[in-house]
Amino acid sequence: RAKAAGRSRIEVFDDALRERALSRLRTESDLRVALDSDQLFLAYQPIIRMQDGSIAGFEALVRWSHPERGTILPGEFIALAEETGLILRLGRWALKEAALQIKDWRQRTGRDLFVSVNVSGRQLMDDDMAAAVAQVLEETGVEPRALKLEITESLLLDDTARCVQMLHDIRKLGVRLCLDDFGTGFSNLSYLHSYPVDTLKIDRSFVRAATDGDRRAEIARIITMLAAALDLEVVAEGVERDAEAAFLRGLHCEYAQGYFFARPMPPEEAERHLLVQAA
Ligand code: C2E
Ligand code: MG
Ligand code: MG
Ligand code: MG
Repeated sequence: RAKAAGRSRIEVFDDALRERALSRLRTESDLRVALDSDQLFLAYQPIIRMQDGSIAGFEALVRWSHPERGTILPGEFIALAEETGLILRLGRWALKEAALQIKDWRQRTGRDLFVSVNVSGRQLMDDDMAAAVAQVLEETGVEPRALKLEITESLLLDDTARCVQMLHDIRKLGVRLCLDDFGTGFSNLSYLHSYPVDTLKIDRSFVRAATDGDRRAEIARIITMLAAALDLEVVAEGVERDAEAAFLRGLHCEYAQGYFFARPMPPEEAERHLLVQAA
């Protein structure tokens, strides 16, 4: 009877799964090629000093310029890179690329700029992570303080002791650490003081709440106070509107980042931004 009624639901379901699996395989093999043939690049989004609007540093955000699909955002391939382990190669490439770039910009502007590079949990679980960071420092000759690693707090909850050790090993190199999307992933504040972090980055959902009359905006206030109390730097992410920037200034939030100030840009454009501001 199923045949008489056309293809069964199970068959259709199978087709959908097969299609998904195929598309994953394609993306995976494409990503391997991308890593071997320079299809990845980093976009740089300025991180602004609220006090005077100057550029303090940049966040490096990976982009994939796919020969057929155009520019692909990390949301479409980072998870796959993590599952396949390709994230280790991708991560090392990104770190070195960002280090070389910031070294160049520091030399040419004479300014104490930093670059913030995103690191995934899989990388932190890799026993060679600290050695990989040390190698990048050695190969590029960049000042360690010019590099920041961004880690999402939810990652740290999985295997706390091991992660804390890794963070200490990295911090000992002089590289700085930032907790990304802060406020979204944790339930226990007591761990904060055991992590050797320098910066808290307020998640954009709390920034957005600022002008929506949403009480989550109070979380932004509390994170800023927490950062001050623990002597940490604080960056707000995802600032899109003037009113959000004003709210953050009111909180004495020192740094901010978002479309309101500047979008992530290819290196040449970020460089123009930097040089215009220096002039
Ligand atoms: P994230 O680290 O929280 O980065 C911020 C994201 O917000 C970026 O998205 C950025 O383009 C976007 N953004 C910046 N300003 C605004 C704004 O004003 N409004 C809104 N709505 N969005 C804004 P993107 O580049 O698509 O990256 C997404 C995520 O992918 C990042 O979130 C990060 O977790 C991950 N990622 C990016 N690059 C890398 C990388 O090199 N390695 C790893 N492991 N993860 C990366
Ligand atoms: Mg980030
Ligand atoms: Mg973030
Ligand atoms: Mg985020």
